[in-house]
Amino acid sequence: VAVAAGALTDRQLDTLTAVCDTFVPAIEREDDPHGFWGRAASDVGVPGAMTVAFGELPADQAAGVRSFLDLIADVGFLEGSPERREEILNGFGDFRPSRQGFHAFRSFATSLFYAIPDETGSNPSWPALRYPGPPDVPVPDDPRLPVTEPDAPLELDADVCVIGSGAGGSVVAAELAARGRRVVVLERGGYFDSADFEQLELWAYRQLYLGGGPFPTEEGQVALLAGGALGGGTTVNYTNCLRTPDRVREEWERDHGLEGVAGADFDRHLDAVLARIGATDRCSDLNGPHRRLEEGCAALGYSFRRAVRNADPARYDPATAGFMGFGDRSGSKLGTIRTYLRDAVEHGAELVVGCGAERVTVDGPGTLTVRAASAPPGGGEPVEVTVRARQVAVAGGSIESPALLLRSGLGGEAAGRNLRLHPSGVLFGTYDEDQDSWWGPPQAGLCDEFADTGEGHGFLVECPHVSVGTAAASLPWLSGRQHKEQMHELPRTAALSFLVRDRGGGRVVLGDGGEARARYVLEDEVDVASFREGLVRVARILEASGAREVVAQDRAATTWRRGEDLEAFLDALAGVSLAPYQYAMFSGHQMCTCRMGRDPGTSVADPRGALHDAPDVWVADASAFPTATGANPMVSVMALARRTAEAMAAA
Ligand SMILES: Cc1cc2nc3c(=O)[nH]c(=O)nc-3n(C[C@H](O)[C@H](O)[C@H](O)COP(=O)(O)OP(=O)(O)OC[C@H]3O[C@@H](n4cnc5c(N)ncnc54)[C@H](O)[C@@H]3O)c2cc1C
Repeated sequence: VAVAAGALTDRQLDTLTAVCDTFVPAIEREDDPHGFWGRAASDVGVPGAMTVAFGELPADQAAGVRSFLDLIADVGFLEGSPERREEILNGFGDFRPSRQGFHAFRSFATSLFYAIPDETGSNPSWPALRYPGPPDVPVPDDPRLPVTEPDAPLELDADVCVIGSGAGGSVVAAELAARGRRVVVLERGGYFDSADFEQLELWAYRQLYLGGGPFPTEEGQVALLAGGALGGGTTVNYTNCLRTPDRVREEWERDHGLEGVAGADFDRHLDAVLARIGATDRCSDLNGPHRRLEEGCAALGYSFRRAVRNADPARYDPATAGFMGFGDRSGSKLGTIRTYLRDAVEHGAELVVGCGAERVTVDGPGTLTVRAASAPPGGGEPVEVTVRARQVAVAGGSIESPALLLRSGLGGEAAGRNLRLHPSGVLFGTYDEDQDSWWGPPQAGLCDEFADTGEGHGFLVECPHVSVGTAAASLPWLSGRQHKEQMHELPRTAALSFLVRDRGGGRVVLGDGGEARARYVLEDEVDVASFREGLVRVARILEASGAREVVAQDRAATTWRRGEDLEAFLDALAGVSLAPYQYAMFSGHQMCTCRMGRDPGTSVADPRGALHDAPDVWVADASAFPTATGANPMVSVMALARRTAEAMAAA
């Protein structure tokens, strides 16, 4: 703390504290049994936690933090009344050059207030929100996977080096190890299993997510979520198992040359994957928000169905399933740590964790070198890991795989292009009764009525994972009181989300240090229309299921209350600004940045998955999708990776 605190001057520290206490102020209320209203951000150490986090930022971002605080102080923030301070912050939020800073401070301060755990692992605001926090459930007695954590330079020889241990990489590793190949898997993140999962959001974001938790696209429009530990997305995801939609499979075969994907041959891969990960509908309990979605859809004549999930019914416990985005303590989640990575290890694969691939070099046909850096478990300088292999499967996810290829000078013109995100929006409906959003699995059911609203594009409606810190960060902020009041309603709130099958796309490029940067702006006319229709349909569903209030996540917190004109509200929603920082958008589904296709000018890999310009290097993750699936992608990633593994074995 001392080092980090030293980075801010006293004036900057005072400004930071005042900013935090403006975002989350103490509000006088007579009826305050839990001290919720009377508690400000600084009462739970939010400015201190932010100072520590700032101390870990790269120099340019830390400088940005300091200049934001200086700018705020220069306009008289510290001298201003509470109302004036809110006015100043809102001014910064609406002014284009400063809105990025406003949103970063707003989301950081509000989420920390609700998520910082005390020494018992709880947070003083939870009782007022009736948020129980993760339950203490028994941890299964499974053997841990053997992993290598190099603390000295290491050289390995393999038939196949798999880069990334997520949905795609795990399947390739298991399939090729089962065929007798010597497989080495490099995973940049650490290995965490049931006993390690506290299921607390701050810990989980830091340890299990790429980039330490939700991070924005360069333009600030979409917050990206991706797995960043052993098992990748499958360790943190919501276990909703959807087959690749038929129309998408036809498009991939017809327009992109992926032979067999539209027919029985790909069904074989989908069936095998669903069987191995134990996809079942026996663990899909519907909590309040799902019931509201079901009721709203029934009232409006929209489709609704329960989801199939990769969950072990013998270990399933709905009380803990609501926290699965932060790791699954119960062991019910059948991610790749419990399935494909175990299979790979049983067939001799070596898992090297904490080890990020930096470059792939093609030395000659069937002679490849992967250079990686490994962070020693106890800290200290990274050590070099070198893997020599006959084949490489790139499976670092759709943000990191193209960055690796770009750093390596591989993949051609299309590397990093065509980024698809399934941009997702959320609306909150508030009811008279508690909704128990944190009981039962997220995404246990869905409405696919609008999956194709024309030209094969549209959106799915689902129920997101709800946690207090993330909810606080995504809720619009107009004043400290409005935000606290909205958070106080959280137990009675059902959040519904929709995800758009995007036609337009963005791009992953390299930053100055060779790191991945994601650029994406929702501007394609079909996508904008889908997003707007998503807002309107979800609002209708919430109204039809009895919500007394519906709040959008736009900068102005556009709100409808029962008794008010619904159509006027829907018109307003259809017209909200979708420009960066105007509507909270999320993406847990990054795709297509190293896509397969026939044409080396517009695709990175051929229709089997081998790079056009380096046929011993293969792409085996969501980045290989030719286009967005329009369905939650895990099963598609795994099935496509299984297909790619067969092609690698045959090559
Ligand atoms: C919170 C959340 C919930 C989701 N819920 C669902 C759901 O319910 N259903 C569904 O179908 N989909 C869901 N998804 C999406 C799904 O998990 C992803 O689409 C899928 O995991 C992508 O697979 P992948 O192989 O492309 O990458 P990932 O699974 O993300 O794996 C990539 C791995 O590579 C590692 N890596 C990156 N760079 C390097 C490098 N240079 N060297 C070594 N390792 C590297 C990463 O740390 C990561 O572990 C969810 C995603 C998130 C984030």
